[in-house]
Amino acid sequence: MKNVLVVVDMQKDFIDGALGTKAAAAIVDNVAQAVRAFDGEVVFTRDTHHDDYLETQEGRNLPVPHCIEGTDGWQLDRKLEVLRTDDMKIFDKPTFGSVALAAYLKADGEVESVTLAGLCTDICVISNALLIKAYMPETEVRVLERCCAGVTPQSHANALEAMKMCQIKIV
Ligand SMILES: [Zn+2]
Repeated sequence: MKNVLVVVDMQKDFIDGALGTKAAAAIVDNVAQAVRAFDGEVVFTRDTHHDDYLETQEGRNLPVPHCIEGTDGWQLDRKLEVLRTDDMKIFDKPTFGSVALAAYLKADGEVESVTLAGLCTDICVISNALLIKAYMPETEVRVLERCCAGVTPQSHANALEAMKMCQIKIV
């Protein structure tokens, strides 16, 4: 059995780019430390949009182009990119949750726990945590509170509460 750490959307546009926040910048070192210390497999997700972003449903609701594939803002933060080795998979996803990630974890068959860290607590972290829980009801799903940040401090706190109610361990 093995443990997996999912590093969600630690991309420049969410840290110091188009949708960056001070709260996001403040967790980068914590996430890097979690990656270094993790005993198990580490995977990453990247929010990935294209030139048609403003015509997508996400773009109509949030008309701020970000994480356009190939741009600087789409890249992982440098402090995480330097820690990433070739065996660490990246899941590029068209919007919040990654079905490919959940299917990959389920297909593995040996995953005992999934731990999530990254951005944003209230959008992509909660979406992926609940998606993984749905795919793998007998797998423990955890979220590292100090390695997440929300769009606002209030929505970060709300998302942690919502995940707690859904039996996701906030640690
Ligand atoms: Zn997006």
